Amino acid sequence: MKLRRTAAAAAVVLAMAVTATACGKEGSPDDDKKDKDAPKLSYEVNTAADVKDSPVWSKVKGKKIKIGTKADQPNLGYEDPSTGKRSGFDVEIARMIAAELGFDEQHIEWKTVPTEARETQLSSGGVDFYVGTYTINDERKKQVDFGGPYYLAGQDLLVDKDSDIKTPEDIKGKKVCSVTGSTPLKRIKEKKYGVAKAKAQQGYQLCVQDLNNGQVDAVTTDDTILKGYAAQNDGLRVLGKPFSEEPYGVGLKKGDKALRDAVNDAIETHQKNGNWKKAYDATLGKSGIPAPTPPKVDRY
Ligand code: GLU
Repeated sequence: MKLRRTAAAAAVVLAMAVTATACGKEGSPDDDKKDKDAPKLSYEVNTAADVKDSPVWSKVKGKKIKIGTKADQPNLGYEDPSTGKRSGFDVEIARMIAAELGFDEQHIEWKTVPTEARETQLSSGGVDFYVGTYTINDERKKQVDFGGPYYLAGQDLLVDKDSDIKTPEDIKGKKVCSVTGSTPLKRIKEKKYGVAKAKAQQGYQLCVQDLNNGQVDAVTTDDTILKGYAAQNDGLRVLGKPFSEEPYGVGLKKGDKALRDAVNDAIETHQKNGNWKKAYDATLGKSGIPAPTPPKVDRY
């Protein structure tokens, strides 16, 4: 049964690639007829952008801006392996911010950065900003700064449809997979959850493979991420009982206050002009849950 599921999962990866291709930006040749009624996503580039007090912005002005994100999280940060196209809510938030900073798609250099490498990539200048299910917390604020929050998620569990795990309490004695450097992995290791094994992987897609192969009993991370996998894997479901708060922020190099202000302005602009909701509807909203009220930006 497990083996059959693996084959099905492989087919699903293929289907995902096709779906992602169909979600191209306006005017792209691979726009699918089925997507004709989907909201079109494009953002006016602010050609007069001026963030000269920002060392990071000043360095990349007129060149390319390097944006870090995820590539294996459907509807959030996803890279179509066959076309290289990026899609998802995080990717759209990043495009909105880039547009406000004066960069169009041709002047964006996308870089896939896993959970574990975010702080080092931001500190070293490997990326100029990061948008990828990045929870704002005090520990991380010691190393990086955050714009936002732009979305509120919560930790949840992905399990087999016939699993006896029905609530977060049921993971006692079970094997659970999450990702190195993530808040969900740290939390699940707390004594009170009593898991038999907390397996650490480099990405959530690998955890889903472990679940499909029967090597773990559950995958844990943000509900947003898990729903993307559940939508692609018939035999899996998300409990829908979040047990943490994960406010998503835009990762920035520590101390670049001018860039943080500009990023916060950009988020507020696109919340007000409706682009935030359009992006949600075209990505995370595919799960059927209507767009929530966007969180208030925290100018700490
Ligand atoms: N939001 C959580 C975190 O920042 C989990 C998702 C992720 O690993 O990106 O750690």
